[in-house]
Amino acid sequence: MKCDDVFKLISDYIDRELKRDIEEIIEEHIRECERCFALMKTLEKTIFLSKSIYKRRRKVPKKVLEKVYYEVRIRYRK
Ligand SMILES: [Zn+2]
Repeated sequence: MKCDDVFKLISDYIDRELKRDIEEIIEEHIRECERCFALMKTLEKTIFLSKSIYKRRRKVPKKVLEKVYYEVRIRYRK
């Protein structure tokens, strides 16, 4: 799995909406990829913080996700 694939699936992963085998592939990637690990941690924090703002929505708005992706990409550019 490539980082771009992880980026696409990570919000579903955090929401536990993926199949178990796909979750395992992502977990394996995150263990070995500093950038995706940082992305997941940042996203978890963002989701936690934004839940109070977006109370009625279960999911974090796409705009917020894109902002996090962008920041992590900049920080961990190889
Ligand atoms: Zn990665």
